Amino acid sequence: MTPEQARTLTIQAGRALAAAGQGDMVWGHAAVRDPAGRGIWIKEPGWGLEEVTEERLQLVGHDGTVLQGDGKPHKECHIHLEVLAADQQLACSVHTHATAAVAFAALDTPLLPLSHEGALFAGSDVPRFTETGNLISTPALGKALAAALGGAPAALLPKHGLVAAGHSVPAAVMHAVLLDRACTTQLAAAAAGPVRVHSDPAEARAKRAECWPDTQLEAGWNYLLRRADLLHP
Ligand SMILES: [Zn+2]
Repeated sequence: MTPEQARTLTIQAGRALAAAGQGDMVWGHAAVRDPAGRGIWIKEPGWGLEEVTEERLQLVGHDGTVLQGDGKPHKECHIHLEVLAADQQLACSVHTHATAAVAFAALDTPLLPLSHEGALFAGSDVPRFTETGNLISTPALGKALAAALGGAPAALLPKHGLVAAGHSVPAAVMHAVLLDRACTTQLAAAAAGPVRVHSDPAEARAKRAECWPDTQLEAGWNYLLRRADLLHP
């Protein structure tokens, strides 16, 4: 990947997340690892996910300073700096305030594999970062969040939002989208009555492999980019 490609993918990640309904006005962001090792590409604060352009990108260095682009960095850039530092295989991390994820996290109940999306965690509960419900505004909090995420595709931040990561930009974005959809489905089921049917761990593991290989994550990503074009040509 070249820095130019990383910038393009950062713009596309924002558009795809917005098309999936993960926007929270100007809050929430996706970050792509700089292929030259200088830090992360991320949008400038003050813009919505669907408003990211080449001119509104920043290169934020490992110490949280803006190396390219205008303005201050996002206060929560430490999420991405630390998640991507913790695992060099990760290409991208996502942080949004997706409504269903926040609502579901408030129930403090395990996320169950009710649907294909719910099988993303292969029958395990989604990790949760519980050290604070406030902003992840320091390197120490970013490190703690990265530890809570571990090797999982995504984690909930109760009272706040979600974080997701992936070995590719499409995977990271889709992990965020799938977690939010799984939360939406379980909220709907729980609101209608007791949840009685869901995959057992063996079926959930099989479904994760069958439903969510890289090819399917990329198919979902490509759909979201087409939808973004329809919504904001
Ligand atoms: Zn946040």
